[in-house]
Amino acid sequence: MSDFFGSTTWTALLIIIQIFGVALWLALGYWVYQDSRRRFENAGAITGSTAIALIIPLLGPLIYLFIRPPEYLTDAHDREMETLALEAQVGGLRCPECEAVVGSRFLVCPMCTAPLREPCRRCSEPLDPIWHVCPYCATPAYSQTGSAAEETRIS
Ligand SMILES: [Zn+2]
Ligand SMILES: [Zn+2]
Repeated sequence: MSDFFGSTTWTALLIIIQIFGVALWLALGYWVYQDSRRRFENAGAITGSTAIALIIPLLGPLIYLFIRPPEYLTDAHDREMETLALEAQVGGLRCPECEAVVGSRFLVCPMCTAPLREPCRRCSEPLDPIWHVCPYCATPAYSQTGSAAEETRIS
């Protein structure tokens, strides 16, 4: 028996086990890094998760499985957008000045005459002030926000 443990076969087996262990350790660390990048926006949380996985071999990735956010960032983002779209549908768009319900194509508020949108220079479709380009005819929109952004870029 002592012959077996002293043999080169046993030494080789130990080395293989060690290499396998190190490979598994690094692979799990890498997996945690990739997975946390899709779940955390915070760079510190990503580094922290990867550090836990590397500092505590095998158990670290297991801990990460329990503490990681249940959903991917893209899923959370999609759901957020859906909620916003739903709110806009249910609540309707409102005038920023008088809170009156306004249509999505109104140029001015019918209640307080506050300007809501500018018509496109080319096709006269109502443009949202935050748009940089007309979505109907692709003409660049020169709204107030657009020109302000233009100025900051030049200076
Ligand atoms: Zn109004
Ligand atoms: Zn247009």
